[in-house]
Amino acid sequence: MIKIYGMAEIIKTSYSALDTFRQCPLKYKFQVVEKIKAPKSKEAVFGDKLHKALQFFHKQSPLSPTLDELLNYIKEIWESEVFGDEQTDMIYFSEAIKILKNYYENYLKIKEKLVVLDTETRFEVLLENPDNKDQKCLLRGIIDRVDKIKDGVEVIDYKTAKRFPAQNDVNNSLQLSLYCIGVLNRWPEFAKYGPENIKLTLYYLKHQETISSKRTEEQLNNVQKQTWEMLKEIEKSEFQPIPSALCDWCGYRRLCPMWRHLYKEQMAIDDEQVKKVVDEFFALKQANSQNNKKINDLKEIIENYLDKEKIERVFGDTGYITRLIQIKAGGYDIKKLEQLIKTLPLPIQEQFQQVKKNDKEYTIIKASVKKIKKEP
Ligand code: SF4
Repeated sequence: MIKIYGMAEIIKTSYSALDTFRQCPLKYKFQVVEKIKAPKSKEAVFGDKLHKALQFFHKQSPLSPTLDELLNYIKEIWESEVFGDEQTDMIYFSEAIKILKNYYENYLKIKEKLVVLDTETRFEVLLENPDNKDQKCLLRGIIDRVDKIKDGVEVIDYKTAKRFPAQNDVNNSLQLSLYCIGVLNRWPEFAKYGPENIKLTLYYLKHQETISSKRTEEQLNNVQKQTWEMLKEIEKSEFQPIPSALCDWCGYRRLCPMWRHLYKEQMAIDDEQVKKVVDEFFALKQANSQNNKKINDLKEIIENYLDKEKIERVFGDTGYITRLIQIKAGGYDIKKLEQLIKTLPLPIQEQFQQVKKNDKEYTIIKASVKKIKKEP
């Protein structure tokens, strides 16, 4: 990743690589550090085909293709074999067709005023390391679409994920800040608009909804720091996997310790045993949760009885059950904390007094296995 040019070190990377690291450091290691080629996941291919279809659609603006031409285009580039069985392929293909039809319908509403400046716009941003001026990072990226809007431009990034982000996340997205700088670098004439006139939009294709934000000069100045912080994090990373819904987009599942077992083809005896152990574990967990539910029901009956009789302890043949009030500070048992705190220096004891202000009372039901005989 590091190239030396003269006296300066230039780290070449892309926003998508940084984003991969943010999603999962292990995926970053497979993809960027070890450069392992992986088959694209269904979701990744699905997104890629839609991006290509929309690029085809807008590339020819203002003489955009008809809906039929757009649908024919995606049929031509579709790769059924990636989606496995026929039924799965049909589900993904129908979804792609539905998205494009809805997209086209929306397009018809705005086509008179739509001015597409570019699609698949490549950009570069050179960011100096704030702690070492000899170190720079050349960050490359691709913006899906750039439109001219009144007194400014709109940067559009298509998303095929279902999950719609919170406005706050969009306002602070490093990706969109980089896109803003990227557009200003690529078309310096847009600088006259200022960042406040560069609209940054995420277009969620499944919902046909957009979410937009803008950047301030201050936010753009912060991009350099944010990017270098991430690069430093990558440098000292141990590349641990972070499993999430995004694993569906990952082509490294067969290599990943979080998923590899699922894909193991030749099962050895201990593999078969572990499968049985996993199933047994679930059976016990299920029984546990049924027991816990039953215990809660019994506790409720006992507590009602204690209230009715105005007593705090009941006896059975196996043992007795006591209701106790416990005071906890910040979730910890206060008696145990007090004993511990006495052994600590005075300033910490004072801090403890602050924590104590958050004391809470809890009712607990304590079961003691002990046969109790009545005293004569
Ligand atoms: S499958 Fe999930 S956890 Fe494993 S490398 Fe890929 S994204 Fe990370």
